[in-house]
Amino acid sequence: MNVLIYGSGQLAQMMYLSAVPLGFKVQAVDVANHTVVDPISKMKLDISIEQAIDRADALSVEFEHVPEDLLEQAQSSGKLYPSMEAILTGADRVREKNVLEKLQINNSKHLIITDIEQLDDAVAQLGEKLIIKASRDGYDGYGQWRLASKDDLPSLKQQLADLDLVQVPLIAEQMVPFDRELSLVGARGLHGEVKFYPLAENLHHEGQLHVSVAPAPEIDNALIEQAHSAFTKLADEFDYVGVLAVEFFQVGKQLLVNEIAPRVHNSGHWSMQGTDCSQFENHMRAITGLPLGNTQAYGKSAMINIIGCDDYSTDLLSLDHCNLHLYGKTVRAKRKMGHINLTGNTYADLAELMTTLAKYLPVEHFPKLLGEADKLAKID
Ligand code: ATP
Ligand code: MG
Repeated sequence: MNVLIYGSGQLAQMMYLSAVPLGFKVQAVDVANHTVVDPISKMKLDISIEQAIDRADALSVEFEHVPEDLLEQAQSSGKLYPSMEAILTGADRVREKNVLEKLQINNSKHLIITDIEQLDDAVAQLGEKLIIKASRDGYDGYGQWRLASKDDLPSLKQQLADLDLVQVPLIAEQMVPFDRELSLVGARGLHGEVKFYPLAENLHHEGQLHVSVAPAPEIDNALIEQAHSAFTKLADEFDYVGVLAVEFFQVGKQLLVNEIAPRVHNSGHWSMQGTDCSQFENHMRAITGLPLGNTQAYGKSAMINIIGCDDYSTDLLSLDHCNLHLYGKTVRAKRKMGHINLTGNTYADLAELMTTLAKYLPVEHFPKLLGEADKLAKID
């Protein structure tokens, strides 16, 4: 099979690596330069996008912020999975909120802001603790502003004054006092079959994912049902093909959808060591019409993102049940450089491994690691 992926970052790289044993050839589109590149070396290939589309059995994306002209060209080939509509919904928070409302899926209370003065209505209707998000081009907490008190509203308005809110509206969301964040990653095949990975618990710091634990501890069937139901409604709506991720806030016994990602997702990286068939391989299988692979977890897994640093000790490779995945990037603040997957039979195993791992890492860059280890140690 030949697959063309739009986007040439780590997700394209990991999709490619997962599909090599299946005999796939994978090329990537550098969407900034409109060129076809090798997903590992990122070297430009001597082939046009049109030629690459012609040769491909399936096209897909590693991220949702692909320029619309490229998406249209991909969609018109009839080989783009998931569909352009699903991708655009993940790329635009206004579309996303509209779909969630239409499908009656619980999500955080919000208001769409097309004029800065509407922020007053947002405070009046939603309360003074708000998170304001640009409707497009946000990721990893970029394009977000927080309002802690209505006293800060004038200065926030000033900060946002230069934005063209008609072109790119803002979403003002109520700050949800969640108990924790969870996500569901699942795959839907060409013929509608669905496989779910277990829910993951996700720890964020400054709007960025730092640690995922899967299966998430202390999950009951009612939570799983809510998550599966939200996923199924969304997947059915788009006649979705491929891996889809849904991020949730848990508030008491209720799940609210935070956002959806029409692609493989950082909170599913644990599946590389934690299951028979990773989210990357299942995405490649789904879009090419192959049977989906087993998504059950072997035991307990944790995924630790390496963010904004490269001064860890590679002696961590001496640890058992610890796998390093690097993306080959040069270091920059807040940049995802790679991740570490840990596996164990119990949460206590994971806790012990996390504590040991911390000795090899510059801990200031891993603010969630030791706290999570303490928490997991108390579960088993
Ligand atoms: P990513 O690309 O990492 O998924 P993002 O930039 O797309 O991030 P969100 O997922 O919307 O943005 O927000 C990032 C994080 O900010 C969330 O995971 C959560 O920790 C926090 N957050 C977002 N919205 C809310 C909210 N309404 N209430 C409380 N916290 C929130
Ligand atoms: Mg998110």
